[in-house]
Amino acid sequence: MSKTSDDFDAEALYRTLLGQVRDGLAGVGDAAIVGIHSGGAWLAERLARDLDLNGRLGFIDVSFYRDDYAKKGLHPDVKPTHIPFNVDGATIVLVDDVLFTGRTTRAAINVLFDYGRPQRIVLAALVDRGGRELPVAADFAGARVTLKPGQSLALLKNADGQLSLTIEDD
Ligand code: 5GP
Ligand code: MG
Repeated sequence: MSKTSDDFDAEALYRTLLGQVRDGLAGVGDAAIVGIHSGGAWLAERLARDLDLNGRLGFIDVSFYRDDYAKKGLHPDVKPTHIPFNVDGATIVLVDDVLFTGRTTRAAINVLFDYGRPQRIVLAALVDRGGRELPVAADFAGARVTLKPGQSLALLKNADGQLSLTIEDD
């Protein structure tokens, strides 16, 4: 799905992503889900629940691994990276909410390799907003969106757990 307007049914995007990941993992015995803090974490939790992979769920914080950490002057509220399964030989679905330049993904792959040698890593993002600066691609994406300069995506989880997604101008 490709959109340029700001009307998104984020729940529908989630269902699309879930279906893609489910199909992609068909027949894979040692699948695991790893969410990138913070936006990818709750998405990974939800995917793990819906895919019955709660025992194979981990989280990564890439704040200190980002190559532009110093440049951006980020003040990360650091959450622990937690990978409670054996990474060696696993097929890992790396999950983030939005894929942009690819730098966060690159950093997350570095972290995973600190823990072992996965058999395969695939990337799932709720939204791919283009703008890549590295050779990174989403294997699974709920939507691919074209933004105008100065725009970004606001992704919110409402009190009832439902997602909402809108385009914001600077
Ligand atoms: P990248 O590292 O690919 O440039 O950016 C992806 C990371 O930045 C993701 O962790 C994502 O949470 C965040 N991000 C980048 N662009 C947006 C955006 O437009 N909206 C939201 N909510 N997050 C974004
Ligand atoms: Mg993020």
